Amino acid sequence: MNAKTSEPAASAGAPATDWLACPSCRALVYRKRFERADGVCPSCGAHAPLSAARRLEALLDPGSARPLTAAETVHDPLSFADLKPYPDRLSAARAATGHADAVRVAAGTVSGHPVVVAAMDFAFMGGSLGVAAGEAVAMAAEAALARRAPLVLVTSSGGARMQEGALALMQMAKTAAAMAALDEAGILTVTVIADPTYGGVAASFATLADVVVCEPGARMGFAGPRVIEQTIGQRLPDGFQTAEFLLRHGLVDAVHPRGELRRTLAVLLASARGHPDHTGPARAGRDDRVAELPRPAPAPVVRDPARLAVRSAPEVVAAARDLRRPTTRDHLAYWMDTFVELRGDRAGADCPAIVGGLGTVEGRAVVVLGHQKGHTTAELVRADFAMASPAGYRKAIRLARLAEKIGVPLVTLIDTPGAHPGIEAEQQGQAGAIADCLRVFTGLRVPVVAVVTGEGGSGGALALGVADRVLIAANALYSVISPEGCAAILWKTREESPAAARALGLDARSLLELGVVDGVVPEPEGGAQADPAAASLTLRDAVLGTLDELAVLDPAERMRRRRRRLRGFGLPGPTATGTDRARFEDIDEEESA
Ligand SMILES: [Zn+2]
Repeated sequence: MNAKTSEPAASAGAPATDWLACPSCRALVYRKRFERADGVCPSCGAHAPLSAARRLEALLDPGSARPLTAAETVHDPLSFADLKPYPDRLSAARAATGHADAVRVAAGTVSGHPVVVAAMDFAFMGGSLGVAAGEAVAMAAEAALARRAPLVLVTSSGGARMQEGALALMQMAKTAAAMAALDEAGILTVTVIADPTYGGVAASFATLADVVVCEPGARMGFAGPRVIEQTIGQRLPDGFQTAEFLLRHGLVDAVHPRGELRRTLAVLLASARGHPDHTGPARAGRDDRVAELPRPAPAPVVRDPARLAVRSAPEVVAAARDLRRPTTRDHLAYWMDTFVELRGDRAGADCPAIVGGLGTVEGRAVVVLGHQKGHTTAELVRADFAMASPAGYRKAIRLARLAEKIGVPLVTLIDTPGAHPGIEAEQQGQAGAIADCLRVFTGLRVPVVAVVTGEGGSGGALALGVADRVLIAANALYSVISPEGCAAILWKTREESPAAARALGLDARSLLELGVVDGVVPEPEGGAQADPAAASLTLRDAVLGTLDELAVLDPAERMRRRRRRLRGFGLPGPTATGTDRARFEDIDEEESA
């Protein structure tokens, strides 16, 4: 392995017991300080390898760890020998680490939340995945399943253990099956990628977790850099396969320093606690916790169009596009007690125009995702002007599926001029990605609330807009096409966009009349731009109140109503509005009382 991953060596000239030289920056570090920081260099932040035992100590609450031991496995199935017989290598590794193989498992708690942790030890034969390691990971998954506790895997491995031949290879499939069982059971899985994670571990359980967090600088990939360089005959770019590279390419959710991992895990575990059986009534399981919480005031939502002022179309368009309005990141900052941003489509890209993650609002676990604009040109550029790529929609689907898996409501915030029009977007399947959003969102069994917070532009907006309830901020708009685009096509000149805006009925009042939205969330005097904090908190209360209304329905009934809502769009008769007003009767009564 390269110098970066080797154990920091005692520096010559300094007392070996007291001082270390950081292998990255060569700074002399007081050994005790280095150990207190769990192997992170205080000068340059480099993360040195951590033994599995130290890792369990660093992650779990003090005194909470109970070691779990995997079943006995075959030791040398092939009677393998290279330069040395395999049993000799095993004995040496066992003597050096004091452990039977490369994975240690413990049940315990993180900030009081029950969890099962399996940690790999690179010091044990390069953390290679043999039968015993595969068995330990599978056992850890089964223990998590039996306890209905989330599973955390800390990976560090060169790949499959060659000395155990095809049986080592099969551990990839064994562990993948164990992860799939946790998916079926709705149990959260998290991987912490430590340097390095390659080959069979990267291509099985490491990347199958719901959330993949990397330590800074940690490298992960299928093929190692040397193999790739030899095969393609090219030098690899700096930083190839590092955590930061993986994040940029949408392959991992986040990069968090070792010192922050416990806090990150605590947020994730708190949000996924006590997942209910989806098929049971919503009142079971986690919703007991919701019931314990103080009931918020009824959602501040206007459901009668007559109570809304009639406004001119150009005024509506200008207000909806005002860059001072709170963005999705602003709402997240105002709303969330705790939050972990989750990034990437896990297929090669992370789209900055859609952001989202998992956390809690007023004590309630939610997955929130939405289009991200910006207040300045620089922020808009960074967010691709909120015009999402297929990777953005695939990220949205990934987060929606996570919400579904762990039984947490989904909230989407819509604010986009439209999906990104471009060559790459088309090559990567923009149309299919949007269509897939629509399909996945129709089938979610968890409560879904969508809010048009600014500009609801066309299919790129609707992709996040299939929900049990769709709300719109009073100054937002929602339209099949931009007024400029409509004018250019039908009036043959963009000058006529005010006329197009009027004709399209894209304002909140018109949309409520059409039943395209179920409620309008009032904005402060002067619009959300005048008082972003107040506007955002009103929106939050509207969302929480709406989620409470939805929580009393069982999932099957919720889904039936969601589909009926979609089916009713444009039909004449009592459900002509698309809003099934009958189901609001009790709420309207409450409101007028
Ligand atoms: Zn250093």
